[in-house]
Order: sequence, then C-alpha cells, then structure tokens
Amino acid sequence: FGFKGCQKIRGPQIRNLLEAKNFFLFDCDGVIWHGEKAITGAAKVVNSLIRNGKNVVFVTNNCTRPRENYMHKFSRLGFHEVMLEQIFSSSYCSALYLRDVVKVRGQVFVIGCEGLRRELQEEGIPCVEEADEPEATIYNCALAPDVKAVLVGHDDKLTFLKLAKASCYLRDPECLFLATDNDPWHPLSGGRILPGSGSLTAAIEVASGRKATVIGKPSRFMFECISSQFSGVDPAQCLMVGDRLETDMLFGSNCGLDTMLTLTGISQMEDAHEYSKSELSTNHSLVPDYVVDTIADFLPAFED
Ligand code: PLP
Ligand code: CA
Repeated sequence: FGFKGCQKIRGPQIRNLLEAKNFFLFDCDGVIWHGEKAITGAAKVVNSLIRNGKNVVFVTNNCTRPRENYMHKFSRLGFHEVMLEQIFSSSYCSALYLRDVVKVRGQVFVIGCEGLRRELQEEGIPCVEEADEPEATIYNCALAPDVKAVLVGHDDKLTFLKLAKASCYLRDPECLFLATDNDPWHPLSGGRILPGSGSLTAAIEVASGRKATVIGKPSRFMFECISSQFSGVDPAQCLMVGDRLETDMLFGSNCGLDTMLTLTGISQMEDAHEYSKSELSTNHSLVPDYVVDTIADFLPAFED
C-alpha cells in the first residue's frame, strides 16, 4: 500500500519470521495480558516459544511491582515456563541503573508505589523512609541531607508534599533526576484512564526546570540490561512485540530490533499509517515492521 513497514502478516509469513528470530521481547500489558486477564492464547504462545528453544524476555514499563510479583502473576495466568531472569521491568532496571551505572552513594527519594521501593531495596539501594506525619507540610517537614537521586514512577498515593520535596531535592545539581518510564496514561475498562508516570514526571520537570533521564521504554537502557544478562544477544535476531507505537516500536527501533505491533492493545493500524506518512522522518521509527491482530496468530506456526 506504499507504507514503509506495517506489514500485516499471517500463516506461513509468521512461521518464517519465528524461525528467523531466536530472541523475543514481549511488552506485557496489551500484548500478554490486559490487567489481570491473559490475552487468549498468549500463554500457549509463550510456553511454545520457550519449549522450542527460543529466548523470551518481558519488557514492561509497569514499575508498580517487584519482579517477584510478576513471577506469581505469570504463573497465576498460565505462563508456567516463565522465570524471574526473563522479567525486565522499569523498576528492576531503575535499580540496576542506580546500582551499576551511576553507583549512587547516598539515598534515593522515590515517588512511586511500594513495589518500586521494594525492588530498589532488593538491589541494595537505600531509599528515604516515608515518614507518616499527617501534619507535615513543605514549610515544616524534614528533608534528608544525603539525597543523591530522585526517582519518579507511577504513584497512586501521590501528594503535593511529595511533589514539593522532590522539587526541593532537585535544586541540588548533583542530585540525579530519573523516571522509571514516561508513559502518559494507561487504559482502564469502561473508557477510563490511569495517568502514567510521565504525567507525574512532567509536573516535577516544570517545578525543577530539569529533564528526567528515562529508564524504561523507549530508552535503550532496558535492552542493555537484557544484553548484559544473556550472552550473545544479536539485535538482528531479535523481535520486539508491543502494543504502543510511542514506547514499544520506538524502543525496538532505538535498539536496532525488528518490531511487531499487535492490535490487542493501544495503537491501531491507522496510528501506524499516520506515523509512516509523517513528514517528520523521526516519526518513521514508530512504524512497526510487522503487524498481527493478536500474538495468538503465532499458534499455527507451532503445529506441524
Ligand atoms: N505503568 C503502569 C502503572 C501501568 O498500569 C501499565 C499498564 O497497565 C504500564 C505502566 C504499561 O505496562 P506495559 O509496558 O507492560 O504495557
Ligand atoms: Ca503495553
């Protein structure tokens, strides 16, 4: 149809693609599951890929749970072959970044859910304790003296005080400013949405006059974590499967991977076509190489 990439594939084309690749990166929400419900056939696809000797990893921008909880979720939803080492979340990768890249000395001030804090503690990163002071305000609260990084993620208990404290810590130019991910919002059922980490980060960017370093997709860092934990990862043999063009397809493209959009989530074919027609050539990095209706379309490839 004259569009670059965006090739809707089926049957034998999917089989050929699966044969040509040996490393599969799956986004989670919108590809593998919707919240607490597995996408029909997804568990069978993942289990079959693993049994066929393919490497499979999961790259999720959801920073609200430690990997341990994802393990339980995978197993609860029927993904029985998935192991902890295959799970790369923006919270886990944020912990690795703080520990191995910036080697943070001092405490981290975290805006995020309890799960993010637990994941950091798991990797030995000290976080500022949340004091339970109902009377505290930004005029009278204590600020920790040794905060070397502010990390912002999805926080369903965000308060004005937390925003204010983060903005104060960031006055120190030595204090790093990190965001688990930059997702704007997430779909809920019934047409409702959940504001994502990106919306909270934006508030602090304005207040501090600084820009956060993003750890999650579309930044390359999650792929660096994967490459350092699996030997011989060859981008040419990887396929990144996701449902959001602005995070997943751009991530794949930033890392030199072939990309596949599955239509069970946020982005649709028209969105991909819009980007492919765009005059702005950077928008072409958001166009998937391949498109499927659902990853359940992989299933016939496993039958002989
Ligand atoms: N962050 C939060 C808080 C979410 O609820 C979700 C999806 O539900 C995501 C991120 C996106 O996750 P994924 O990257 O697996 O699509
Ligand atoms: Ca997704």
